[in-house]
Amino acid sequence: MDNEQLWQAVLGEIEVSVSKANFTTWFKNTFIGSFENNAVIVCVPNIFTKAWLEKKYCQEIITALKNITKEKDITLLYKIETRKPTFTKEVIREKSEDGETTIKTINTPVTFKISNVNKFGLNNKYIFSNFIVGKNNELAHAACQAVAANPGQTYNPLVLYGGVGLGKTHLLQAIGNELAKTTERILYVTSEKFCNDYINEVQSGRAKFLKEKYRNIDLLLIDDIQFLGGKDGTQEEFFHTFNELHQNNKQIVVTCDRPLKAIPALEKRLLSRLEWGMVADITMPNYETRMAILKNKCQEKNYLLAEKIIHYIATNAETNVRELEGVLTKLITYFEFNNLVPTLEETKRILIDNFSSFQESSLSAKNVLDAVSKFYSITNKDIVSQSRKKELVKPRQVVMYLLREEISMSFPTIGQELGGRDHTTAIHACKKIAKEIIEKERMAQEINSIRQLIKNYGG
Ligand code: ADP
Ligand code: MG
Repeated sequence: MDNEQLWQAVLGEIEVSVSKANFTTWFKNTFIGSFENNAVIVCVPNIFTKAWLEKKYCQEIITALKNITKEKDITLLYKIETRKPTFTKEVIREKSEDGETTIKTINTPVTFKISNVNKFGLNNKYIFSNFIVGKNNELAHAACQAVAANPGQTYNPLVLYGGVGLGKTHLLQAIGNELAKTTERILYVTSEKFCNDYINEVQSGRAKFLKEKYRNIDLLLIDDIQFLGGKDGTQEEFFHTFNELHQNNKQIVVTCDRPLKAIPALEKRLLSRLEWGMVADITMPNYETRMAILKNKCQEKNYLLAEKIIHYIATNAETNVRELEGVLTKLITYFEFNNLVPTLEETKRILIDNFSSFQESSLSAKNVLDAVSKFYSITNKDIVSQSRKKELVKPRQVVMYLLREEISMSFPTIGQELGGRDHTTAIHACKKIAKEIIEKERMAQEINSIRQLIKNYGG
């Protein structure tokens, strides 16, 4: 593995833990200048990037370097340097008609490998054909396919919701990529982008900008709509955009990391519009689906891993699909870099940090417990007690629901954490609270307030 490959592997690890915008901003045009005596010089294009990487990403970079190179000590240095030729020279031989060979050098561009993004801002890798369908996402998947086949006619709007890293963006963009084959009139944005566009318009006084951009299209894909919560002006603008597109049978698809009713301060009229069409949820894939996803990823990467290794990952990585992918990439990179044949023992050793981090979830479990106790003015002891008093049963169910939603804890573990109850009790509690959130505005608000508290506890 040369420096170039090493850096790509480092970027691969960092990419999974950083937002795409940050990743592109700070890691674009970076490369390893040299790697000698455990000192790595990372070249960056300017002083801002240097300062930012030093301040924010030093640890991540060092950890990734250590993971991949197996070195215990790594010193990280930065240097401002743009890659002189942003082209590498490639030597080619050409035979002329009279049989003489001339040697020519041509420039081949060095590309920043993450740019899988097409002109619509869609990742080319997010397509239907590499999306594994399981019980956890079959409804969402089917709805997306229906929408891609008949935009504006089947489910409009289509809302996809579910926890982070479960494939919402993948499906949303798959619709875009599918329709991009036949139309240009596609717009994919995050709700933050929509909000920024709105703010810019208000500031610049260019009143038509948003209308031109957002209403002249056949397909509007808005990712992570939960950010609209509490942003009244943006919601109003979105409301009008929605109405106009919908009236003209233009397709709208949005994603959200929670049930719509749980978005704090989402205007009622907007909520009701969003519920007009189809709302489909995505949950964590079960073991079989996780196996299928891993096998598919191995195939994509053209890398062979023994069944028992895949089984080990599928059993232990149970937070989300992004984690599943991240762990697999880390493993493959490690084995490839060190030129080793993958074994289960080595796998366990390499992934110890990843999987033992699940014990940290007991820390977050405590955060959840603390927050709920505080909110209902009871004690943690009350919650895990065997008492069936009404004023304790509800908070207990809320804890179970939040353990599931916030830290994706398995039902048996939830039962365990809450005074050794059965997993069916946990399942029942989660269903009950989820239903109440949808039916009762007050419950949705309570859960939101508690989520806020958990965040505070979590630092
Ligand atoms: P979300 O938007 O829900 O946070 P993403 O769509 O970004 O999640 O998915 C995280 C990663 O997991 C992506 O790389 C995506 O391709 C992958 N992924 C999620 N679900 C599946 C699936 N069912 N099959 C294949 N890959 C998946
Ligand atoms: Mg997403």
